[in-house]
Amino acid sequence: MDCVKIVNYFKHRQILSLDEMNLYNKAMHEYHIKFGYEKGKRPKISKPKRKRVFEKCNGKCVYCGKQLTLGTFDACIDHVIPIAKGGNNEDDNLVVACRKCNSSKGTKLLSEWEGNDGKWELRNNIKRALQQLIM
Ligand SMILES: [Zn+2]
Repeated sequence: MDCVKIVNYFKHRQILSLDEMNLYNKAMHEYHIKFGYEKGKRPKISKPKRKRVFEKCNGKCVYCGKQLTLGTFDACIDHVIPIAKGGNNEDDNLVVACRKCNSSKGTKLLSEWEGNDGKWELRNNIKRALQQLIM
C-alpha cells in the first residue's frame, strides 16, 4: 500500500463509504509510522483514559514499581509498543511509567530496552507487569 498516495488522494475528496474510510484510516496509520505526526498533532490521551490506565496499573510505574500520583510531572503514560513502531493509543497499549523509565525506554520496543539501569530485576518486573496487563 502506498500510504502517501492514498492520504493525498483523500485529502481533497469526500470520503463516501465505509471501505474508503477504513482504507484512509489504515493509510493514515502507516503514514504516521513512517513520517510521524505534525508538530502538536499527535493524538492526545484523554483524561478519563489516563485515569483508567492509572487504575489498571495501581498507580505504579510498571517498569520499576515506583508509586506515582496522577497528574504530576513524574507520572507518564507509556506506549508499550511505541507509536513510532506501529503502536496505537488503545488502552491495551498504554501503561503507567515514571519519567525516568519513560524517557529511558523512548521509542524502543520492550525487547530492545534494557531497563532504566539495565538490571535483571527490572527485566523481571517488566515481564510480570506485562503478564498482568496485556498478555
Ligand atoms: Zn519507573
